[in-house]
Amino acid sequence: MPIAPNPNPDRSRSPWRDVPDDEFWSWGWQVKHRIDDPETLGQVLELTDEERRGFDETRGLFRFGVTPYYALLADARNPACPIRQQLVPRPQEAVVRIGERADPLGEEPREVVPNLVHRYPDRVLLLSTDRCPVYCRFCTRRRIVGRVERQSSRALLAEAFEYVRAHPEIKEVIVSGGDGLMLGDNQLEHVLGTLRSIEHVEIIRLATRMPVTCPMRVTDRVAALLAAHGPVYVMTHFNHPRECTVWAAEACRRLVDHGVVVYNQSVLLRGINDDVEIIRDLNRRLVSMRVTPYYLHQCDLAEGIEHFRTPLATGLAIIDGLRGHSSGLMVPQLCVDVPGGLGKVTLVPEWIVGRTGRYTTFRTYSGETAEYLDPLPSEH
Ligand code: SF4
Repeated sequence: MPIAPNPNPDRSRSPWRDVPDDEFWSWGWQVKHRIDDPETLGQVLELTDEERRGFDETRGLFRFGVTPYYALLADARNPACPIRQQLVPRPQEAVVRIGERADPLGEEPREVVPNLVHRYPDRVLLLSTDRCPVYCRFCTRRRIVGRVERQSSRALLAEAFEYVRAHPEIKEVIVSGGDGLMLGDNQLEHVLGTLRSIEHVEIIRLATRMPVTCPMRVTDRVAALLAAHGPVYVMTHFNHPRECTVWAAEACRRLVDHGVVVYNQSVLLRGINDDVEIIRDLNRRLVSMRVTPYYLHQCDLAEGIEHFRTPLATGLAIIDGLRGHSSGLMVPQLCVDVPGGLGKVTLVPEWIVGRTGRYTTFRTYSGETAEYLDPLPSEH
């Protein structure tokens, strides 16, 4: 039997208990009533002094915002709650540590026209909006996300589309932001339709955290729109098993039922999910929701997020604990986006423990060793 999703958040004792169901559980209501100040959040969570200081000290550095849905998933009393840590600012965010950068992935030098980053030979990143339903405190693109809260204008997007059209080597476009599903239906249709009209664009990826932070955004209309412009791959971003609610499962089911492939990219976050059992539980739930765990990202070197970062060894130990002990479907690739925009590298634990002539000695997941014999060189 697939794993049953977690219950939806309970709003019976929240400020929104009297909002009619069809309004509260709609994406329009959730985005319109996004919480953007500590006073309103304080009606849902018992904020600690440190959290209140976090609001004061990060003001002007990185926007705060959270949907009522996602805020209600957090533990009202426990500041160590894994959902709460993702959404409430902490004073540490105001401190820039050695090695941290405003643009850790080196996107700005590779922004070939406004809102279009061309880093890899055959794919580009389209920054379609700077808005998100929730501003994740560990966001890599905090230098631009939420700054002015707007979608890229059609004129700016037209420039980006022209660039893609003029470069036949581009086979894939990643529609991101911000959150790609903050685009309204008409704008989304415009973006997908224009990209699909460019003959050499084979694949469209849509990066969105909406299935996690505002799953009601994934309406039948959106799923049908993505399917109509396929192949569209949705890259979502679950970080913790608690995010796998009935609503989240329904959003993913809708996409998959329409023929849209859904992958997940988690970020490894200290004190939130840096534990093999948490990642195992998350990935089992995702696979039950027909979502493939794709990447486990090492946290980038963005400014003010050192308190979220884990040593590289932690990620390697997690992959070591998953491989062989869990189905291969549930083992993501551990990856580091190396600073400076030089691309991703994937890390694997050391499975090879020796080499002699044609023999390679492996360490297996259970700690035993085994030898593999290479073939003799071909005589022809
Ligand atoms: S949804 Fe993505 S882009 Fe938006 S704040 Fe979170 S991590 Fe950043």
